[in-house]
Amino acid sequence: MYDYIIVGAGLFGAVFAHEAHRRNKKCLVIEKRNHIGGNCYTEVREGINVHVYGPHIFHTSNQRVWNYVHQFVTMNRFTNSPIAMHKGKIYNLPFNMNTFYQIWGVTTPQEAQAMIEKQRSAVAIAEPTNLEEQALKLVGHDIYEILIKGYTEKQWGRKATELPPFIIKRLPLRFTFDNNYFDDLYQGIPIGGYTQLFEKLLTGIEVKLQTDFFSERQSFQRIARRIVYTGMIDQFYDYCYGKLEYRSLYFEHEVLNVVNYQGNAIVNYTEREIPYTRIIEHKHFEYGTQPKTIITREYPREWVDGMEPYYPINTPQNMRIYEQYADRAKKELSVIFGGRLAEYRYYDMHHVIANALKAVQKEFGEP
Ligand code: FAD
Ligand code: UDP
Repeated sequence: MYDYIIVGAGLFGAVFAHEAHRRNKKCLVIEKRNHIGGNCYTEVREGINVHVYGPHIFHTSNQRVWNYVHQFVTMNRFTNSPIAMHKGKIYNLPFNMNTFYQIWGVTTPQEAQAMIEKQRSAVAIAEPTNLEEQALKLVGHDIYEILIKGYTEKQWGRKATELPPFIIKRLPLRFTFDNNYFDDLYQGIPIGGYTQLFEKLLTGIEVKLQTDFFSERQSFQRIARRIVYTGMIDQFYDYCYGKLEYRSLYFEHEVLNVVNYQGNAIVNYTEREIPYTRIIEHKHFEYGTQPKTIITREYPREWVDGMEPYYPINTPQNMRIYEQYADRAKKELSVIFGGRLAEYRYYDMHHVIANALKAVQKEFGEP
């Protein structure tokens, strides 16, 4: 018998397992992939830590979460400053004074604000109901057309008018010359990659890789006092209220015989016509000086069974389906649901750690 069987060796599962193990609970982690770490997994190739499932930058304003990860890893000083390429021109992200200068030639915050105000008032949207309206209300027509519309529509495979407004609210808008993509107090990349964080979290815990919960569900349920489930919530309930939609990705990794390919960790390609959304050059996350470089082109894909469900698509229709699963999940006495897939939420890593620690607190009744 196990006290906990934890389905998924991603961030939620690993943090929960670590905390339960620390309290002398007998845990088994099962993971369907052939490695731990979930989507944060990094792998050393050509001496470079490759973010195998897309670029992961750790950022948080939560002191407790920052201290928590520092028990296991040290973060470097990486600050995410992606650039956007559109029709051969480079623009800074997030939307800041550098971007406004590049688009309109304005050099002061007053001029930039006046320009955005003029563009905003041309659309006059009181309460945005979709991503397009939200973006137009936030930054106006020019930035929307150059930096948002094409990227968003290929990323999500839907019109911007069919997407929820909150997605674009993730991006800051500033009237300073500050290219830091995040507003958080703390930011960095674990020196040596993310996988060691998971190795440390899972030290001393039994982990079964290449094991799908659903292939032996009955027997796992028999030998566990409780299940911690971090997979897709609709699959857990056998899709009884209908299938939720996800967005998938295809990563094309390439080793190049050059030291420095693009001079930045992330370059977004915001035109609709270019099939990938961004190119990652992994060595720049850790200031690498290796003789070769590794780049990854990230192609968005429609999700179908058997593909990795990277992003929940939080449209109103999907949320109505999700709420039915969530109501049922609330009533479960022996299952804890957590993480991006089980909560069907667009969480960053720091949210997932904070939520896992909350679940631990609830489970073990400690402050
Ligand atoms: P996951 O990492 O998805 O882990 C769930 C695990 O469960 C997986 O390993 C899966 O294989 C396993 N599993 C699922 N079903 C089963 C089953 N039936 N049986 C056994 N195992 C199962 N966050 C940031 O903070 N900063 C970033 O820069 C950032 N960039 C991102 C870029 C991309 C492309 C993506 C997709 C995400 C990004 N994130 C980022 C978000 C981050 O990846 C998540 O917040 C985090 O990984 C969520 O952890 P999790 O445990 O919920 O899920
Ligand atoms: N986005 C955009 N242009 C960009 C970058 C992002 O329009 O150059 C929009 C897009 O809709 C995306 C959202 O902002 O889905 C959130 O971007 P973020 O970089 O946070 O996405 P993630 O890293 O989660 O894929």
